[in-house]
Amino acid sequence: MNVLVLDLDDTLVDDTLATRESVTAALTSAHIATDPTVIDNAFTHIRKMWSRHPHRRTGPLAAVSGWEALWLPHEGSGLPAAVDGSLRVYETQVWTTIIESMHGDPTQAPAAARAFRAYRRGALRLLPGVEDGLESLRKDHALWVATNGLPAQQRMKLAATRLTPIFDRVWISGEVGAAKADPAFAAALQRAVRQNGQKICFVIGDSATQDLALAGNGSWPAAHICRNQTCSVEVPAEAAVAHAAALDQVDLVCGCARTTSPSA
Ligand SMILES: [Zn+2]
Ligand SMILES: [Zn+2]
Repeated sequence: MNVLVLDLDDTLVDDTLATRESVTAALTSAHIATDPTVIDNAFTHIRKMWSRHPHRRTGPLAAVSGWEALWLPHEGSGLPAAVDGSLRVYETQVWTTIIESMHGDPTQAPAAARAFRAYRRGALRLLPGVEDGLESLRKDHALWVATNGLPAQQRMKLAATRLTPIFDRVWISGEVGAAKADPAFAAALQRAVRQNGQKICFVIGDSATQDLALAGNGSWPAAHICRNQTCSVEVPAEAAVAHAAALDQVDLVCGCARTTSPSA
């Protein structure tokens, strides 16, 4: 069977909303009243502090976001002890800074860090339409997932949402050694499909800078998941990009379905 390459975060598994909820839970645990502006400000601190982190570009951390760095697994992360230690310090510093910016009690930072981790783990869930969408897509295609992040964390997300057995292959930037937007990532996928005598029919994902870039680098058609009714992503005229509001609305025009014998 030919291959579909799917993104993980915010294509299959809720990331943005789950993270906002988790920041809210962390600040509530530190007795800070939240509203959307408070949460936006928290994200500004997280982005700024992560951009200045000394290990921001170290190995597999290169494609990890500041909010993911707040709940990276310590077990099996494969990170050197010094790097892991600096991430623990980062976690407390981030929550201290956010709490202080809200004139809260900075001694609550460790509790906020723990609350964020616990809530974020519990908020792992599939997005609407994903279960039905995957069921339909896997009838005529082998499914590969391609994701940026720390391998231990991305594999944990797949396991917690029961996606692990759905995928024939898992491609994680931290293992490939390149982010999805890097031509080296597309080249790795291209080598693998050629070895198997397959082809990639579509890259499916929500990110213009990563998923559509991956599709462009491999000259593969793409399906852009855009939950907003109007898509603001601009793509080059020669790029083959379809748009869908959810995974169960992706319309594959690759023709693979017709080659499959109908089930009894
Ligand atoms: Zn779109
Ligand atoms: Zn196909």
